[in-house]
Amino acid sequence: MADGRGVPAVVIIGAGFAGLEAAKVFDGVDVLVTIVDRNNYHKFQPLLYEVAMAGLEADDIAHNVRDIFRKQRNVRFRMGEVVAVRREEKAVVLSDGTMLPYDYLIVCAGAVTNFFNVPGAEEHAFPLKNISDAIRLRNHVLKQFERYDQDSEEVGEGALTFVLVGGGPTGVEMSGALVELFATLEDDFPDLAITDLAQVVLVEMQDSLLPPYHEELRAYTRKTLERRGVDVRTGTAVAHVEPTAVELQCGDRIATQTLIWAAGVRAHPLADTLRAEQTPDGRLVVDSMLSLSSDPYVFAVGDIAASSDSEGNEHPGVAQVAIQQGRHAAKQILSDLAGSEREPFEYRDYGQMATIGRNAAVGEFPGGIKIRGFTAWFIWVFIHIAKIVGFRNRASAFVNWAYNYFTYQRSARLILELPVGEQVIRDAFEGHSGDGATSEPVHQA
Ligand SMILES: Cc1cc2nc3c(=O)[nH]c(=O)nc-3n(C[C@H](O)[C@H](O)[C@H](O)COP(=O)(O)OP(=O)(O)OC[C@H]3O[C@@H](n4cnc5c(N)ncnc54)[C@H](O)[C@@H]3O)c2cc1C
Repeated sequence: MADGRGVPAVVIIGAGFAGLEAAKVFDGVDVLVTIVDRNNYHKFQPLLYEVAMAGLEADDIAHNVRDIFRKQRNVRFRMGEVVAVRREEKAVVLSDGTMLPYDYLIVCAGAVTNFFNVPGAEEHAFPLKNISDAIRLRNHVLKQFERYDQDSEEVGEGALTFVLVGGGPTGVEMSGALVELFATLEDDFPDLAITDLAQVVLVEMQDSLLPPYHEELRAYTRKTLERRGVDVRTGTAVAHVEPTAVELQCGDRIATQTLIWAAGVRAHPLADTLRAEQTPDGRLVVDSMLSLSSDPYVFAVGDIAASSDSEGNEHPGVAQVAIQQGRHAAKQILSDLAGSEREPFEYRDYGQMATIGRNAAVGEFPGGIKIRGFTAWFIWVFIHIAKIVGFRNRASAFVNWAYNYFTYQRSARLILELPVGEQVIRDAFEGHSGDGATSEPVHQA
């Protein structure tokens, strides 16, 4: 056995939704589980935008991995960056050269921001994939107002125009939250008429926002955002990004110093090192049991994997898929160890929800059930608080949200300059969208 102690060694790459759920399945089983993650925390990505928009603190949505497993005695945590998987040696290679041997490997390193080769996007846009992305964006947005307040001419054109690319849930949620942030800042900056000066433009390539939702909910989302002051532009894509402007394919040019990229993801480039079949966006193609067809000892789950149901429909890149797949992969390893047959993965769809902002959200559930407005928003808040890992985090997020709701404030309006080097494990793969990476979009003040 790979760990030298006579029990099978399972290595899990990534402490995201899939990795945590996979590890939990081995509780009480005679297996040594090693979780490797470049960060020592799990982050709740669906609420990253709340950190970026000053609604929640970063530590409301992140939880120490060792703490999560402190009672599960067969789990070890290794903080480190996996740079390659050597399948022929059944080992994972870390950036410091350490080799971690495995009997079974579960790859769940997730996804990275996809800039779709749009010229200038990677250099100038703000991605939102990691805690450091969220804090960097929050710093930038708040600084734009500080700079404008100090000298509105010096700061230049488009200083208070915030352009979001991508009309999926993240783009919609961020647009709504930005407008709410403006309302809070109105009191912070008594000399500026912020709600007149500041502007949010949401650009979506398809003809409507939230493309996978029912038409009625899409229309409601657009109407609600527009009523709240968001300039929604659909049916056009970003063609070109400059430090102080964005050009759209329809020919429009928008002066802006803030382009927020919520347009999509691709598989983490770690997938390339496995030398297995991949989709054009880099995802590892897995069989119905979620392992590589060329290697039954390697499972790939969550955002880094490409899997389909029995009718050939691809599973979406959402948290529920990652959670259920993480559990399923771990259960197949237990089946192997017990000498039983593996079983195909079946995704159970519990529905989807997106919030538009205060008192407004949309939700769609199996059986054609559709909800919107305050009821949907209330359910959305309840579900998100319930899903955050850790009681302290849930309590803190609840208090912050309740405070923000009743005071009409966004309470985490801090510009936090973290010391370079201390917040960083530079991500060799992701460039500036890697967690803790230091480089900034070049136009940032
Ligand atoms: C801004 C945003 C909002 C979202 N909102 C929603 C939503 O509302 N609802 C929903 O269902 N889904 C949402 N998603 C999608 C959802 O978060 C993902 O589908 C889900 O996180 C995938 O889980 P995962 O375990 O595959 O990967 P992740 O949760 O991304 O976890 C991957 C882990 O791997 C680690 N890692 C990566 N590379 C390495 C490496 N080389 N070495 C070591 N560790 C590594 C990372 O640090 C991370 O902890 C959102 C995603 C984003 C970015």
